[in-house]
Amino acid sequence: MSDKTNVQSIEEKQYLVRFKANTESHLHVLDSDVCATKCPDKICTIFCPAEVYKWEDIRMHVGYEGCHECGSCRIGCPHENIKWEYPKGGHGIIFRLG
Ligand code: SF4
Ligand code: SF4
Repeated sequence: MSDKTNVQSIEEKQYLVRFKANTESHLHVLDSDVCATKCPDKICTIFCPAEVYKWEDIRMHVGYEGCHECGSCRIGCPHENIKWEYPKGGHGIIFRLG
């Protein structure tokens, strides 16, 4: 039996969670100019496991609805350019485990 049978894809793992999105984002990129001029690798688009951040020509699109609330972007942005808060009570990620 190959190890592959025991490996879950991101899509399969994400099936185990669902989201109750707020109408207001709990994530804010403070200054897109900083992203454009000081962050050539746009590393939030790499380290975010939920692919929340997508660079669109001149600004960062933030798909906050899919955030897994892992907190990585609090410390991962080298320019402290992301304001991250927990979603308001009753919103955000819901785990299906258990
Ligand atoms: S890591 Fe920070 S500075 Fe870099 S693109 Fe993302 S939000 Fe902008
Ligand atoms: S908290 Fe985690 S999942 Fe949510 S946007 Fe930041 S890095 Fe992505």
